[in-house]
Amino acid sequence: MTEPRNLTGFPRTDRVLAHPRLDDVRERLGSAALLGLVRAALDGARARARANELSAIEGEAEVAEQVREAALSWLARRTSRVINATGVVLHTNLGRAPLGEAAMAALAREGAGYVSLEVDLATGERGGRGSFAERALATLSGAEAALVVNNNAAAVLLALAAFAAGKSVLVSRGELVEIGGGFRVPEVLARSGARLVEVGTTNRTRVEDYAQALESHEGVAAILRVHPGNFRQIGFVSRPSLPELVALGRARGLAVLEDLGGGALVDIPGLSGDPLVAESVAAGADLVAFSTDKILGGPQGGALVGTARAVALVRKDPLARALRLGRLPLVALEATLDAYLRGDPGAVPAVAMARCSLEELRARATGWAAALEDTGAKLRVIDVASVTGGGTYAGLEIPSVGLAILGAHPDALLARLRQAPHPVLARIGGGAVVCDARTVLPGEDAALLASVRWALRD
Ligand SMILES: *Cc1c(COP(=O)(O)O)cnc(C)c1O
Repeated sequence: MTEPRNLTGFPRTDRVLAHPRLDDVRERLGSAALLGLVRAALDGARARARANELSAIEGEAEVAEQVREAALSWLARRTSRVINATGVVLHTNLGRAPLGEAAMAALAREGAGYVSLEVDLATGERGGRGSFAERALATLSGAEAALVVNNNAAAVLLALAAFAAGKSVLVSRGELVEIGGGFRVPEVLARSGARLVEVGTTNRTRVEDYAQALESHEGVAAILRVHPGNFRQIGFVSRPSLPELVALGRARGLAVLEDLGGGALVDIPGLSGDPLVAESVAAGADLVAFSTDKILGGPQGGALVGTARAVALVRKDPLARALRLGRLPLVALEATLDAYLRGDPGAVPAVAMARCSLEELRARATGWAAALEDTGAKLRVIDVASVTGGGTYAGLEIPSVGLAILGAHPDALLARLRQAPHPVLARIGGGAVVCDARTVLPGEDAALLASVRWALRD
Protein backbone atom coordinates (compact mmCIF):
# COMPACT_ATOMS: atom_id res chain seq x y z
CA MET A 1 0.00 0.00 0.00
CA THR A 2 1.23 3.43 -0.82
CA GLU A 3 1.07 6.06 1.89
CA PRO A 4 -1.84 8.42 1.38
CA ARG A 5 -0.47 11.65 0.09
CA ASN A 6 -0.94 14.75 2.17
CA LEU A 7 -4.19 16.11 0.82
CA THR A 8 -4.04 19.59 2.27
CA GLY A 9 -4.48 22.25 -0.34
CA PHE A 10 -7.08 20.10 -2.03
CA PRO A 11 -9.84 22.08 -3.82
CA ARG A 12 -12.73 22.99 -1.52
CA THR A 13 -16.24 21.90 -2.45
CA ASP A 14 -17.75 25.38 -2.13
CA ARG A 15 -15.00 26.98 -4.21
CA VAL A 16 -15.44 24.47 -7.04
CA LEU A 17 -19.22 24.92 -6.88
CA ALA A 18 -18.82 28.69 -7.18
CA HIS A 19 -16.25 28.49 -9.98
CA PRO A 20 -17.07 30.83 -12.90
CA ARG A 21 -16.59 27.94 -15.38
CA LEU A 22 -19.77 26.46 -13.91
CA ASP A 23 -21.91 29.61 -14.20
CA ASP A 24 -23.93 28.46 -17.19
CA VAL A 25 -24.53 24.88 -16.04
CA ARG A 26 -25.33 26.11 -12.49
CA GLU A 27 -27.95 28.34 -14.03
CA ARG A 28 -29.54 25.40 -15.83
CA LEU A 29 -29.29 22.65 -13.21
CA GLY A 30 -29.31 24.56 -9.93
CA SER A 31 -26.64 24.47 -7.20
CA ALA A 32 -28.10 21.50 -5.32
CA ALA A 33 -27.94 19.22 -8.37
CA LEU A 34 -24.49 20.53 -9.27
CA LEU A 35 -23.23 19.87 -5.75
CA GLY A 36 -23.62 16.12 -6.31
CA LEU A 37 -21.46 16.34 -9.43
CA VAL A 38 -18.85 18.44 -7.59
CA ARG A 39 -18.63 15.87 -4.79
CA ALA A 40 -18.29 13.01 -7.28
CA ALA A 41 -15.55 14.85 -9.19
CA LEU A 42 -13.68 15.63 -5.95
CA ASP A 43 -13.97 12.00 -4.83
CA GLY A 44 -12.46 10.94 -8.13
CA ALA A 45 -9.66 13.50 -7.85
CA ARG A 46 -8.91 12.44 -4.27
CA ALA A 47 -8.80 8.77 -5.25
CA ARG A 48 -6.39 9.54 -8.07
CA ALA A 49 -4.22 11.63 -5.75
CA ARG A 50 -4.15 8.84 -3.13
CA ALA A 51 -3.22 6.30 -5.74
CA ASN A 52 -0.35 8.58 -6.64
CA GLU A 53 -1.51 8.59 -10.20
CA LEU A 54 -0.87 12.25 -10.48
CA SER A 55 2.26 14.25 -10.07
CA ALA A 56 0.28 17.16 -8.63
CA ILE A 57 -3.05 17.52 -6.94
CA GLU A 58 -5.72 18.63 -9.41
CA GLY A 59 -6.61 22.27 -8.93
CA GLU A 60 -9.95 24.00 -8.64
CA ALA A 61 -10.10 24.90 -12.31
CA GLU A 62 -9.33 21.36 -13.38
CA VAL A 63 -12.01 19.84 -11.16
CA ALA A 64 -14.50 22.52 -12.26
CA GLU A 65 -13.80 21.51 -15.85
CA GLN A 66 -14.62 17.86 -15.03
CA VAL A 67 -17.84 18.93 -13.32
CA ARG A 68 -18.76 20.98 -16.36
CA GLU A 69 -18.28 17.96 -18.64
CA ALA A 70 -20.46 15.80 -16.38
CA ALA A 71 -23.15 18.50 -16.20
CA LEU A 72 -23.19 18.97 -19.98
CA SER A 73 -23.51 15.25 -20.61
CA TRP A 74 -26.45 15.12 -18.16
CA LEU A 75 -28.09 18.07 -19.90
CA ALA A 76 -27.54 16.49 -23.32
CA ARG A 77 -29.83 13.65 -22.27
CA ARG A 78 -32.74 16.04 -21.91
CA THR A 79 -35.57 15.26 -24.33
CA SER A 80 -35.32 17.93 -27.03
CA ARG A 81 -37.19 18.66 -30.20
CA VAL A 82 -35.45 17.15 -33.24
CA ILE A 83 -36.08 17.10 -36.97
CA ASN A 84 -36.71 13.59 -38.25
CA ALA A 85 -35.14 13.33 -41.71
CA THR A 86 -34.64 9.56 -41.43
CA GLY A 87 -37.70 8.65 -43.47
CA VAL A 88 -38.94 6.39 -40.67
CA VAL A 89 -42.41 7.76 -39.96
CA LEU A 90 -42.88 6.03 -36.60
CA HIS A 91 -39.37 6.14 -35.22
CA THR A 92 -39.47 4.64 -31.72
CA ASN A 93 -36.24 6.39 -30.69
CA LEU A 94 -37.74 9.71 -31.77
CA GLY A 95 -41.03 9.30 -29.93
CA ARG A 96 -43.03 7.55 -32.68
CA ALA A 97 -45.98 9.63 -33.95
CA PRO A 98 -45.64 13.43 -33.73
CA LEU A 99 -48.79 15.04 -32.34
CA GLY A 100 -50.97 17.17 -34.58
CA GLU A 101 -52.19 20.70 -34.04
CA ALA A 102 -55.48 19.60 -32.54
CA ALA A 103 -53.76 17.36 -30.00
CA MET A 104 -51.29 20.13 -29.08
CA ALA A 105 -54.12 22.65 -28.66
CA ALA A 106 -56.00 20.20 -26.45
CA LEU A 107 -52.88 19.66 -24.33
CA ALA A 108 -52.39 23.40 -23.93
CA ARG A 109 -56.03 23.92 -23.01
CA GLU A 110 -56.78 20.87 -20.89
CA GLY A 111 -53.25 20.41 -19.59
CA ALA A 112 -53.12 23.85 -18.01
CA GLY A 113 -55.90 23.29 -15.51
CA TYR A 114 -58.27 20.83 -13.94
CA VAL A 115 -60.19 18.53 -16.28
CA SER A 116 -63.36 16.45 -16.13
CA LEU A 117 -61.25 13.30 -16.04
CA GLU A 118 -63.60 11.18 -13.98
CA VAL A 119 -66.67 13.39 -13.72
CA ASP A 120 -69.64 13.17 -16.03
CA LEU A 121 -70.51 16.83 -16.59
CA ALA A 122 -74.03 15.92 -17.76
CA THR A 123 -74.98 14.24 -14.48
CA GLY A 124 -72.34 15.40 -12.01
CA GLU A 125 -71.76 11.75 -11.20
CA ARG A 126 -68.52 9.89 -11.35
CA GLY A 127 -67.66 9.08 -14.98
CA GLY A 128 -65.21 6.55 -16.31
CA ARG A 129 -61.74 7.88 -17.21
CA GLY A 130 -61.23 7.44 -20.92
CA SER A 131 -64.86 6.76 -21.74
CA PHE A 132 -64.97 9.25 -24.64
CA ALA A 133 -61.86 7.75 -26.28
CA GLU A 134 -63.08 4.22 -25.61
CA ARG A 135 -66.42 4.84 -27.26
CA ALA A 136 -64.66 6.48 -30.21
CA LEU A 137 -62.26 3.52 -30.61
CA ALA A 138 -65.14 1.04 -30.41
CA THR A 139 -67.11 3.01 -33.01
CA LEU A 140 -64.14 3.37 -35.36
CA SER A 141 -63.26 -0.32 -35.20
CA GLY A 142 -66.78 -1.74 -35.13
CA ALA A 143 -66.19 -3.30 -31.71
CA GLU A 144 -68.71 -3.54 -28.88
CA ALA A 145 -66.36 -1.96 -26.35
CA ALA A 146 -62.84 -0.66 -25.77
CA LEU A 147 -60.39 0.08 -22.96
CA VAL A 148 -57.42 2.43 -23.10
CA VAL A 149 -54.24 1.77 -21.10
CA ASN A 150 -50.67 3.03 -20.85
CA ASN A 151 -49.28 1.33 -23.96
CA ASN A 152 -49.74 -1.78 -26.07
CA ALA A 153 -47.39 -3.84 -23.92
CA ALA A 154 -49.73 -3.06 -21.02
CA ALA A 155 -52.77 -3.97 -23.13
CA VAL A 156 -51.32 -7.39 -23.98
CA LEU A 157 -50.18 -8.04 -20.41
CA LEU A 158 -53.61 -7.08 -19.07
CA ALA A 159 -55.52 -9.21 -21.59
CA LEU A 160 -53.38 -12.25 -20.77
CA ALA A 161 -53.64 -11.70 -17.02
CA ALA A 162 -57.41 -11.25 -17.12
CA PHE A 163 -58.08 -14.25 -19.36
CA ALA A 164 -55.35 -16.71 -18.56
CA ALA A 165 -53.54 -16.13 -15.24
CA GLY A 166 -52.92 -19.59 -13.81
CA LYS A 167 -54.04 -21.13 -17.08
CA SER A 168 -52.42 -21.89 -20.43
CA VAL A 169 -52.23 -19.90 -23.66
CA LEU A 170 -51.52 -21.31 -27.13
CA VAL A 171 -49.02 -19.33 -29.22
CA SER A 172 -47.50 -20.30 -32.56
CA ARG A 173 -43.73 -20.85 -32.44
CA GLY A 174 -43.52 -18.41 -35.35
CA GLU A 175 -45.02 -15.66 -33.20
CA LEU A 176 -42.80 -15.92 -30.12
CA VAL A 177 -41.11 -12.72 -31.17
CA GLU A 178 -39.25 -9.85 -29.60
CA ILE A 179 -40.67 -6.53 -30.77
CA GLY A 180 -37.90 -4.34 -29.45
CA GLY A 181 -37.52 -2.29 -26.33
CA GLY A 182 -37.64 -5.50 -24.31
CA PHE A 183 -41.11 -6.65 -25.37
CA ARG A 184 -40.70 -10.43 -25.75
CA VAL A 185 -43.88 -12.43 -26.11
CA PRO A 186 -42.81 -15.40 -23.91
CA GLU A 187 -41.64 -13.08 -21.12
CA VAL A 188 -44.74 -10.88 -21.12
CA LEU A 189 -46.86 -14.01 -21.13
CA ALA A 190 -44.96 -15.49 -18.17
CA ARG A 191 -45.30 -12.21 -16.22
CA SER A 192 -49.07 -12.24 -16.75
CA GLY A 193 -49.21 -15.47 -14.80
CA ALA A 194 -50.19 -17.54 -17.82
CA ARG A 195 -48.39 -20.66 -19.02
CA LEU A 196 -47.12 -20.74 -22.57
CA VAL A 197 -47.99 -23.69 -24.78
CA GLU A 198 -45.94 -23.53 -27.97
CA VAL A 199 -47.72 -24.63 -31.10
CA GLY A 200 -46.46 -25.60 -34.58
CA THR A 201 -43.00 -24.74 -35.89
CA THR A 202 -41.00 -21.59 -36.44
CA ASN A 203 -42.04 -21.19 -40.05
CA ARG A 204 -45.28 -23.14 -40.38
CA THR A 205 -48.19 -23.49 -38.00
CA ARG A 206 -51.62 -24.90 -38.94
CA VAL A 207 -54.91 -24.60 -37.15
CA GLU A 208 -54.70 -28.39 -36.53
CA ASP A 209 -51.57 -27.75 -34.44
CA TYR A 210 -53.65 -25.60 -32.09
CA ALA A 211 -56.38 -28.26 -31.94
CA GLN A 212 -53.79 -30.94 -31.23
CA ALA A 213 -52.24 -28.92 -28.41
CA LEU A 214 -55.65 -28.88 -26.74
CA GLU A 215 -55.58 -32.69 -26.62
CA SER A 216 -52.30 -32.77 -24.74
CA HIS A 217 -52.68 -29.74 -22.43
CA GLU A 218 -55.04 -29.04 -19.56
CA GLY A 219 -56.44 -25.67 -18.61
CA VAL A 220 -55.99 -23.87 -21.91
CA ALA A 221 -57.92 -20.58 -21.67
CA ALA A 222 -56.85 -18.61 -24.72
CA ILE A 223 -55.14 -18.40 -28.08
CA LEU A 224 -52.78 -15.46 -28.54
CA ARG A 225 -52.06 -14.35 -32.09
CA VAL A 226 -49.19 -11.90 -32.49
CA HIS A 227 -48.42 -9.58 -35.37
CA PRO A 228 -44.78 -10.34 -36.11
CA GLY A 229 -44.00 -6.63 -36.07
CA ASN A 230 -40.65 -5.62 -37.44
CA PHE A 231 -39.70 -9.21 -38.28
CA ARG A 232 -40.77 -11.00 -41.41
CA GLN A 233 -40.56 -14.57 -42.60
CA ILE A 234 -40.54 -15.31 -46.27
CA GLY A 235 -40.56 -18.54 -48.27
CA PHE A 236 -42.01 -21.77 -46.85
CA VAL A 237 -44.19 -20.13 -44.21
CA SER A 238 -47.81 -20.21 -43.14
CA ARG A 239 -50.00 -19.46 -40.19
CA PRO A 240 -53.74 -19.84 -39.71
CA SER A 241 -55.98 -16.91 -40.51
CA LEU A 242 -57.69 -15.14 -37.64
CA PRO A 243 -61.16 -16.47 -38.68
CA GLU A 244 -59.81 -20.05 -38.48
CA LEU A 245 -58.53 -19.44 -34.96
CA VAL A 246 -61.79 -17.75 -33.98
CA ALA A 247 -63.74 -20.79 -35.23
CA LEU A 248 -61.54 -23.10 -33.16
CA GLY A 249 -61.76 -20.82 -30.13
CA ARG A 250 -65.55 -20.73 -30.30
CA ALA A 251 -65.82 -24.49 -30.73
CA ARG A 252 -63.57 -25.15 -27.75
CA GLY A 253 -64.49 -22.27 -25.46
CA LEU A 254 -61.18 -20.39 -25.76
CA ALA A 255 -60.72 -16.63 -25.87
CA VAL A 256 -58.91 -15.41 -28.98
CA LEU A 257 -56.61 -12.46 -28.30
CA GLU A 258 -54.77 -10.66 -31.07
CA ASP A 259 -51.77 -8.40 -30.53
CA LEU A 260 -51.89 -6.24 -33.66
CA GLY A 261 -49.00 -3.92 -32.80
CA GLY A 262 -49.88 -0.87 -34.87
CA GLY A 263 -53.55 0.03 -34.85
CA ALA A 264 -54.41 1.14 -38.37
CA LEU A 265 -57.90 2.61 -38.40
CA VAL A 266 -57.68 3.57 -42.10
CA ASP A 267 -55.78 2.30 -45.13
CA ILE A 268 -52.22 3.58 -45.32
CA PRO A 269 -49.86 3.13 -48.27
CA GLY A 270 -46.92 0.95 -47.30
CA LEU A 271 -49.06 -0.89 -44.80
CA SER A 272 -50.85 -3.06 -47.33
CA GLY A 273 -49.81 -6.18 -45.41
CA ASP A 274 -51.26 -4.94 -42.15
CA PRO A 275 -54.85 -5.68 -41.22
CA LEU A 276 -57.03 -2.80 -40.09
CA VAL A 277 -58.21 -3.00 -36.49
CA ALA A 278 -61.77 -3.26 -37.85
CA GLU A 279 -60.83 -6.39 -39.85
CA SER A 280 -59.59 -8.19 -36.75
CA VAL A 281 -62.71 -7.14 -34.86
CA ALA A 282 -64.94 -8.32 -37.73
CA ALA A 283 -63.09 -11.64 -37.81
CA GLY A 284 -64.37 -12.19 -34.28
CA ALA A 285 -61.35 -11.81 -32.01
CA ASP A 286 -62.46 -11.40 -28.40
CA LEU A 287 -59.84 -8.71 -27.87
CA VAL A 288 -57.53 -6.85 -30.24
CA ALA A 289 -54.59 -4.97 -28.71
CA PHE A 290 -52.70 -2.14 -30.41
CA SER A 291 -50.62 0.99 -29.78
CA THR A 292 -52.11 4.45 -30.11
CA ASP A 293 -48.75 6.04 -30.97
CA LYS A 294 -47.96 3.86 -33.96
CA ILE A 295 -49.86 4.34 -37.21
CA LEU A 296 -52.95 5.61 -35.40
CA GLY A 297 -50.78 8.70 -34.92
CA GLY A 298 -51.62 9.63 -31.34
CA PRO A 299 -49.74 9.85 -28.03
CA GLN A 300 -48.28 6.87 -26.22
CA GLY A 301 -51.11 4.56 -25.24
CA GLY A 302 -52.54 1.12 -25.74
CA ALA A 303 -56.02 0.01 -26.65
CA LEU A 304 -58.02 -3.16 -26.26
CA VAL A 305 -61.11 -3.38 -28.44
CA GLY A 306 -63.47 -6.34 -28.62
CA THR A 307 -66.59 -7.87 -27.17
CA ALA A 308 -68.40 -6.16 -24.30
CA ARG A 309 -67.88 -9.26 -22.16
CA ALA A 310 -64.13 -9.41 -22.78
CA VAL A 311 -63.60 -5.69 -22.20
CA ALA A 312 -65.63 -5.83 -18.97
CA LEU A 313 -63.44 -8.70 -17.77
CA VAL A 314 -60.16 -6.84 -18.37
CA ARG A 315 -61.56 -3.59 -16.97
CA LYS A 316 -62.20 -5.15 -13.58
CA ASP A 317 -58.77 -6.79 -13.32
CA PRO A 318 -56.71 -5.04 -10.59
CA LEU A 319 -53.86 -4.64 -13.10
CA ALA A 320 -56.05 -2.28 -15.15
CA ARG A 321 -55.65 0.35 -12.43
CA ALA A 322 -51.87 -0.01 -12.45
CA LEU A 323 -51.73 0.26 -16.23
CA ARG A 324 -54.18 3.10 -16.76
CA LEU A 325 -53.57 5.89 -19.23
CA GLY A 326 -52.41 9.26 -17.88
CA ARG A 327 -54.45 12.43 -18.13
CA LEU A 328 -52.25 14.20 -20.71
CA PRO A 329 -51.96 11.33 -23.20
CA LEU A 330 -55.70 10.76 -22.82
CA VAL A 331 -56.41 14.38 -23.78
CA ALA A 332 -54.11 14.08 -26.81
CA LEU A 333 -55.64 10.74 -27.79
CA GLU A 334 -59.16 12.19 -27.72
CA ALA A 335 -58.11 15.03 -30.01
CA THR A 336 -56.40 12.56 -32.38
CA LEU A 337 -59.51 10.36 -32.51
CA ASP A 338 -61.63 13.43 -33.34
CA ALA A 339 -59.95 13.55 -36.75
CA TYR A 340 -60.99 9.95 -37.47
CA LEU A 341 -64.54 10.53 -36.19
CA ARG A 342 -64.85 13.55 -38.51
CA GLY A 343 -63.61 11.42 -41.41
CA ASP A 344 -60.45 13.52 -41.72
CA PRO A 345 -57.58 11.17 -40.77
CA GLY A 346 -55.28 13.26 -42.99
CA ALA A 347 -55.26 15.80 -40.12
CA VAL A 348 -53.16 13.30 -38.15
CA PRO A 349 -49.48 14.01 -38.99
CA ALA A 350 -48.34 10.36 -39.16
CA VAL A 351 -51.17 9.52 -41.56
CA ALA A 352 -50.50 12.65 -43.65
CA MET A 353 -46.79 11.79 -43.86
CA ALA A 354 -47.42 8.20 -44.90
CA ARG A 355 -49.84 9.42 -47.58
CA CYS A 356 -47.82 12.39 -48.91
CA SER A 357 -47.41 12.20 -52.70
CA LEU A 358 -44.08 11.80 -54.47
CA GLU A 359 -44.66 15.05 -56.41
CA GLU A 360 -45.06 16.99 -53.20
CA LEU A 361 -41.96 15.41 -51.67
CA ARG A 362 -39.93 16.05 -54.83
CA ALA A 363 -40.98 19.71 -54.87
CA ARG A 364 -39.89 20.07 -51.27
CA ALA A 365 -36.50 18.41 -51.68
CA THR A 366 -35.91 20.44 -54.85
CA GLY A 367 -36.68 23.61 -52.89
CA TRP A 368 -34.15 22.61 -50.23
CA ALA A 369 -31.48 22.03 -52.88
CA ALA A 370 -32.14 25.45 -54.42
CA ALA A 371 -32.05 27.18 -51.04
CA LEU A 372 -28.69 25.58 -50.23
CA GLU A 373 -27.05 26.18 -53.59
CA ASP A 374 -24.93 29.06 -52.28
CA THR A 375 -23.24 26.74 -49.74
CA GLY A 376 -21.27 25.18 -52.58
CA ALA A 377 -22.10 21.71 -51.26
CA LYS A 378 -22.68 18.93 -53.77
CA LEU A 379 -26.42 18.30 -53.60
CA ARG A 380 -28.74 15.89 -55.41
CA VAL A 381 -32.46 15.28 -55.21
CA ILE A 382 -32.78 11.50 -55.19
CA ASP A 383 -35.41 8.77 -54.99
CA VAL A 384 -35.29 6.95 -51.68
CA ALA A 385 -37.46 4.53 -49.72
CA SER A 386 -39.21 5.52 -46.50
CA VAL A 387 -40.47 2.96 -44.04
CA THR A 388 -43.40 3.26 -41.73
CA GLY A 389 -41.67 1.63 -38.76
CA GLY A 390 -43.43 1.22 -35.45
CA GLY A 391 -44.02 -2.50 -35.60
CA THR A 392 -45.50 -2.50 -39.06
CA TYR A 393 -44.56 -5.26 -41.46
CA ALA A 394 -40.83 -5.33 -41.98
CA GLY A 395 -39.51 -4.72 -45.44
CA LEU A 396 -42.50 -2.78 -46.75
CA GLU A 397 -41.24 0.48 -48.15
CA ILE A 398 -42.92 3.66 -49.33
CA PRO A 399 -41.15 5.36 -52.24
CA SER A 400 -39.96 8.79 -51.19
CA VAL A 401 -37.68 11.64 -52.21
CA GLY A 402 -34.72 13.04 -50.33
CA LEU A 403 -31.89 15.50 -50.53
CA ALA A 404 -28.47 13.84 -50.76
CA ILE A 405 -25.54 15.88 -49.46
CA LEU A 406 -22.37 14.48 -50.97
CA GLY A 407 -19.03 14.91 -49.31
CA ALA A 408 -15.90 13.13 -48.19
CA HIS A 409 -17.04 12.46 -44.60
CA PRO A 410 -20.75 11.59 -44.41
CA ASP A 411 -20.39 10.21 -40.85
CA ALA A 412 -18.94 13.48 -39.62
CA LEU A 413 -21.69 15.50 -41.33
CA LEU A 414 -24.35 13.21 -39.85
CA ALA A 415 -22.88 13.81 -36.37
CA ARG A 416 -22.75 17.59 -36.91
CA LEU A 417 -26.39 17.59 -38.00
CA ARG A 418 -27.29 15.89 -34.70
CA GLN A 419 -25.53 18.68 -32.79
CA ALA A 420 -26.97 21.54 -34.84
CA PRO A 421 -29.11 24.23 -33.15
CA HIS A 422 -32.18 22.36 -34.43
CA PRO A 423 -30.84 18.78 -34.20
CA VAL A 424 -31.43 16.80 -37.40
CA LEU A 425 -31.50 13.00 -37.56
CA ALA A 426 -30.73 11.87 -41.11
CA ARG A 427 -29.26 8.73 -42.61
CA ILE A 428 -26.46 7.65 -44.90
CA GLY A 429 -27.22 6.20 -48.32
CA GLY A 430 -24.89 5.65 -51.25
CA GLY A 431 -22.06 7.31 -49.34
CA ALA A 432 -24.01 10.56 -48.89
CA VAL A 433 -26.04 12.07 -46.07
CA VAL A 434 -29.70 11.80 -47.07
CA CYS A 435 -32.53 13.91 -45.66
CA ASP A 436 -35.83 12.18 -46.51
CA ALA A 437 -38.53 14.78 -47.14
CA ARG A 438 -41.36 12.49 -46.01
CA THR A 439 -40.74 12.74 -42.29
CA VAL A 440 -39.73 16.40 -42.04
CA LEU A 441 -42.86 18.09 -40.71
CA PRO A 442 -44.49 20.95 -42.57
CA GLY A 443 -43.12 24.09 -40.98
CA GLU A 444 -39.72 22.57 -40.22
CA ASP A 445 -38.12 23.49 -43.57
CA ALA A 446 -36.47 26.71 -42.43
CA ALA A 447 -35.03 25.05 -39.30
CA LEU A 448 -33.76 22.10 -41.35
CA LEU A 449 -32.04 24.41 -43.84
CA ALA A 450 -30.48 26.47 -41.04
CA SER A 451 -29.11 23.30 -39.44
CA VAL A 452 -27.72 21.95 -42.72
CA ARG A 453 -25.99 25.30 -43.31
CA TRP A 454 -24.57 25.22 -39.79
CA ALA A 455 -23.35 21.63 -40.24
CA LEU A 456 -21.70 22.35 -43.61
CA ARG A 457 -19.75 25.29 -42.21
CA ASP A 458 -16.35 24.26 -40.90
C1 LIG B 1 -45.15 -2.25 -30.82
C2 LIG B 1 -45.67 -3.57 -30.45
C3 LIG B 1 -45.88 -3.89 -29.09
C4 LIG B 1 -45.54 -2.94 -27.98
O1 LIG B 1 -46.36 -1.82 -28.02
P1 LIG B 1 -46.01 -0.52 -27.12
O2 LIG B 1 -47.11 0.44 -27.43
O3 LIG B 1 -44.67 -0.08 -27.54
O4 LIG B 1 -46.04 -0.97 -25.70
C5 LIG B 1 -46.39 -5.12 -28.79
N1 LIG B 1 -46.69 -6.01 -29.76
C6 LIG B 1 -46.52 -5.74 -31.07
C7 LIG B 1 -46.86 -6.76 -32.10
C8 LIG B 1 -45.99 -4.51 -31.46
O5 LIG B 1 -45.80 -4.22 -32.75
